[in-house]
Amino acid sequence: TKGAAMVTAVASRVQAQRKQIDEVLALFRLTREQLVDVQGKMRAELEYGLNKKSHALATVKMLPTYVYGMPDGTEKGKYLALDLGGTNFRVLLVKIRSGRRSVRMYNKIFAIPLEIMQGTGEELFDHIVQCIADFLEYMGLKGAQLPLGFTFSFPCRQTNIDKGTLIEWTKGFKATDCEGEDVVDMLREAIKRRNEFDLDIVAIVNDTVGTMMTCAHEDPNCEIGLIAGTGSNMCYMEEMRNIELVEGDEGKMCINTEWGGFGDNGCIDDIRTQYDKEVDEGSLNPGKQRYEKMTSGMYLGEIVRQILIDLTKHGLLFRGQISERLRTRGIFETKFLSQIESDRLALLQVRRILQQLGLDSTCEDSIVVKEVCGAVSRRAAQLCGAGLAAVVEKRRQDQGLEHLKITVGVDGTLYKLHPHFSRVLQETVKELAPQCDVMFILSEDGSGKGAALITAVAKRLQQSPRE
Ligand code: BGC
Ligand code: MG
Repeated sequence: TKGAAMVTAVASRVQAQRKQIDEVLALFRLTREQLVDVQGKMRAELEYGLNKKSHALATVKMLPTYVYGMPDGTEKGKYLALDLGGTNFRVLLVKIRSGRRSVRMYNKIFAIPLEIMQGTGEELFDHIVQCIADFLEYMGLKGAQLPLGFTFSFPCRQTNIDKGTLIEWTKGFKATDCEGEDVVDMLREAIKRRNEFDLDIVAIVNDTVGTMMTCAHEDPNCEIGLIAGTGSNMCYMEEMRNIELVEGDEGKMCINTEWGGFGDNGCIDDIRTQYDKEVDEGSLNPGKQRYEKMTSGMYLGEIVRQILIDLTKHGLLFRGQISERLRTRGIFETKFLSQIESDRLALLQVRRILQQLGLDSTCEDSIVVKEVCGAVSRRAAQLCGAGLAAVVEKRRQDQGLEHLKITVGVDGTLYKLHPHFSRVLQETVKELAPQCDVMFILSEDGSGKGAALITAVAKRLQQSPRE
């Protein structure tokens, strides 16, 4: 009958559409072989970065941090810490008590307006110093001479613990006249310009390093720091003899890998999709930080958005209507992805979230959106896991161990808020590095506490040079 024919026609259209959607989702499904391949390539890039000859061209920069010592529990005192690099700028007062390893912190969060993130370097640092002044005033600390640790979460070339030349901005920052400059000098000059107080800047610290140090304060086995947040990065303790850029063969130094740049030479282009390329092209730093753009919070929502636009163009979503909202960059923050993927959430609630984002969806739409988010975040966690597997395996082999036990200190909204990211990441590491027993601990405010601990350790070493 006519009715039956129509039903069949509709059913086969639905089937054809489903096939198209599945084809897109399949692009994000990585096989075990592909992950092993990523792990191997990451391993190779880690070595290039460490070697003198290949270092300059390496995409994983492997930056020496001049952090040699781990906290030993004797650290104490009052420190100021600054934290720049995520969505906010924070100023902290950190009080460390020795013995019981307890730390007290007071902090104030300041927004960094977009026009300052992307204005001139002078304006950025003047703003930072203004925030410090506010904080000192607020805490009644004006005129206090406290040692300061500066957590600055961008790639810096260091020649000392208190010197760091910004190589290039990443994430949402693009202030002019900073790349190639010493960030500590820029801060000192801004303090001078204000001419109101003096500060003893002791250390410049990457957030990964602060995170590792914070966790090492509690677990001496912690020799890796991982950030899966707005950006993606990892640091770890490396044998001095493997660090060709730094004189000396004894002991270990923390290396800031800056693994976000992995793939910038095209070595993982085989797994990058058209959507990854679109996200890259629309970013502040096209061609750069390709691995970061597949694995971190600032970009996952953008990948999702590109897929949704494409599916809509093909009439597979939102009744084929691309709304202004969907065209808006940055609408899918980590927080929304996390909510959409929560298992406890009924589809109706997914629709409500989409509604909040200004996207009108049918029930079928909300199913597809949830699947898209799942595919993108799962791939991110797996890729991050493959990278981490490369590092722990390197550490195991370098130490000639049958079995390695190691702890990773982790921070970042993606890791902490997302309902599946951390589990998939851990499963992937287990799968790809079966001879390593990797424990993960969350860092509580690693950037602030870590900067203070590093400052404390640096002060201790200044007083009694490296044993
Ligand atoms: C930066 C790293 C930082 C990471 C996490 C990346 O974009 O290059 O220095 O550790 O973000 O904040
Ligand atoms: Mg050496």
